[in-house]
Amino acid sequence: MPDILVDGGWRSARNGGRREIRCPADGSLVGEVDEGTAEDAADAIESAWRAFHEGPWPTVPASERGDLLARVADLLERDRAEVARAESLDTGKRLVESGYDVDDVVGVFRYYARVAAEDAGRVVDTGRPDVVSRIVHEPVGVCGLITPWNYPLLQTSWKVAPALAAGNTLVLKPSELTPHSAILLMRLLAEAGLPDGVANLVLGAGPQVGAPLSEDPRVDLVSFTGGLETGKRIMAAAAGTVKRVALELGGKNPNIVFADAHVESAVDFALTAVFLHSGQVCSAGARLMVEDSLHDDFVDEVVRRAEQIRLGGPFDDKAETGPLISAAHLKKVEDYVADAVEQGAWLRCGGARPDDPDLTSGFYYLPTVFDRCDTSMGVVHEESFGPVLTVERFRTEDEAVAIANDSVLGLAGAVWTENAGKAQRVAGRLRMGTVWINDYHPYVPQAEWGGYKQSGIGRELGRAGLDEYRETKHIWHNVRPAPQRWFGG
Ligand code: NAD
Repeated sequence: MPDILVDGGWRSARNGGRREIRCPADGSLVGEVDEGTAEDAADAIESAWRAFHEGPWPTVPASERGDLLARVADLLERDRAEVARAESLDTGKRLVESGYDVDDVVGVFRYYARVAAEDAGRVVDTGRPDVVSRIVHEPVGVCGLITPWNYPLLQTSWKVAPALAAGNTLVLKPSELTPHSAILLMRLLAEAGLPDGVANLVLGAGPQVGAPLSEDPRVDLVSFTGGLETGKRIMAAAAGTVKRVALELGGKNPNIVFADAHVESAVDFALTAVFLHSGQVCSAGARLMVEDSLHDDFVDEVVRRAEQIRLGGPFDDKAETGPLISAAHLKKVEDYVADAVEQGAWLRCGGARPDDPDLTSGFYYLPTVFDRCDTSMGVVHEESFGPVLTVERFRTEDEAVAIANDSVLGLAGAVWTENAGKAQRVAGRLRMGTVWINDYHPYVPQAEWGGYKQSGIGRELGRAGLDEYRETKHIWHNVRPAPQRWFGG
């Protein structure tokens, strides 16, 4: 069956292009999909443009749009196993984790189903009895949604659910490496009753089918999750037509442990923070910062446990984390590790591919810990997006905050201390979109997510995640018009 969705019809790429998708865990062929080009992107944009301007979706009552999102959530629950399997084959992620991801996606659709009809607008008190003044929300228009490979369906749901809740039409461009869950989602949207043309899917590489979404004048908003350099290109391209731009970019996130922390939990979460999904998480706690007096014992324990982490494929029940996404990404992580060594960091464990013969056909890399790092080193600032932890030490609260904020990125961070006052002070001073206290990684759809500084623009999730997809209009109604005679004649 063809994989490109335009105006409710599934079709092949215009030039007949195809792409093989292989599982990163063992290189096995997952399937072949259509590989679109700029022409296919243009068709998808035209379809979304007509669906927006000819309706009826943008004017469907918001409560009905919410009902549709709730049906999508039901269908995702029905197909949980199929969707999780598709996600695991594309990403190499353990099946159990993909199942949790699908549960999270269901939660996102349910949240936006609930809030779609809330906050319809407000009446403004103008101080004039002859005027009725209202603020109303309207959809932005045609949205280009570009998503990455690490949490393919979850990142997609953060965009698709609020975009549809607000009444927009859209063109989705998933990562070319992980397209299958996006195809399944499009089928479920249709099954839930979404009108033809409202959601369109174009598969293919970024420069070919992603770039047109940021350049085309018929697209009103481009929402992108991915790497910093791609984000800059998209923002520059979008400037030509002054599109709304939402960017969710990378992070190099500090995980700050004070000596008065609950140490056993802090060690445990130091591992989860960075090695979950082999570090391929934008909010990964890849910068561990430990107070001087605790540092040595703490890092020894992190290293001891990191060395025991079991790697394996999606269906290996004993595996604790999986492979990297591609050979190119594995090479990037290896280069990053070589740089760290070159810059004088002390390699405490990992730093190589595993020698287990069962893993040689996948893109695996050992959990790696570097100690004696500091902010003068490039590797402390750069995102490896792999299972690599850099460790820095600090002496005081002020020093911890200064070191943590010494970054052009500001996505997320964590603070570990049993002193509530200190925890709140530090959380307040960190220049990051999310700060966890005595925890790492949890998120809920009702709370905003996004970056300070070069980690992004705008917010996903929560009410702000809906507002990204809404225009705000002021309607001024003079109910007793009378000549004003500003000009005498
Ligand atoms: P990437 O930037 O290489 O690709 C992301 C998407 O952009 C893909 O669909 C790709 O095809 C597309 N793309 C590439 N070039 C393009 C262009 N010129 N125009 C338009 N689209 C283009 O990123 P990736 O490697 O897929 O993902 C990893 C990055 O994503 C990491 O840096 C990570 O931190 C970031 N990320 C951020 C968040 C967040 O919430 N902030 C979440 C997940 C991932």
